[in-house]
Amino acid sequence: MKPFTLDPLPYSYNALEPYIDEATMHLHHDKHHQTYLDKLNATIATHPELPDKGIAELLKDLNAVPEDIRTAVKNMGGGFYNHNLFWLMLLRGTVMGEHTKEVLIANFGSVEKFQEEFSAKAVSFFGSGWVWLIKNEQGKLEIVSSTNQDTPISNTKVTIILGIDLWEHAYYLKYQNRRPEYVSNWWNVVNWDYVDTILV
Ligand code: MN
Repeated sequence: MKPFTLDPLPYSYNALEPYIDEATMHLHHDKHHQTYLDKLNATIATHPELPDKGIAELLKDLNAVPEDIRTAVKNMGGGFYNHNLFWLMLLRGTVMGEHTKEVLIANFGSVEKFQEEFSAKAVSFFGSGWVWLIKNEQGKLEIVSSTNQDTPISNTKVTIILGIDLWEHAYYLKYQNRRPEYVSNWWNVVNWDYVDTILV
């Protein structure tokens, strides 16, 4: 299996200021994301017989991963994959599209209700993990959480629409223990163009 590679951020490190600061972006992408990747590559290197697969494909069917590296692939592969998505979900200055609005209203009653429910789940989530907006197998939107670097695509057929990283490394430099402030400011850098594309 070929090693995976880390894409550069699709914008500059200070592009999400002041909501997510430049120092956090350097640490988060260059150190944390890079480490997940390095450990994932070291893990798969122990099984050179594995056929080439994309990271999503690998995580969707963890039972097909050799047992001795399954947990490492779930943790390191999940960390690599979740962060690949996370950078794409962020951008300053986008506006929620009409299509996204309609879908959120149909599923949650209103855009505000969706944001309240998502924020509440993110603020109250205990420990390290993620809160996600996903489309389930029935095509309905749901807000779900995952612990550590688990990803909702593992062993279920769901589509990830949006997600917030709730590990302290995502916000501690700027916000320290003030996770509610991080969550509330995070809405200012949601890439609604990305969401609109995924929801189609
Ligand atoms: Mn992270």
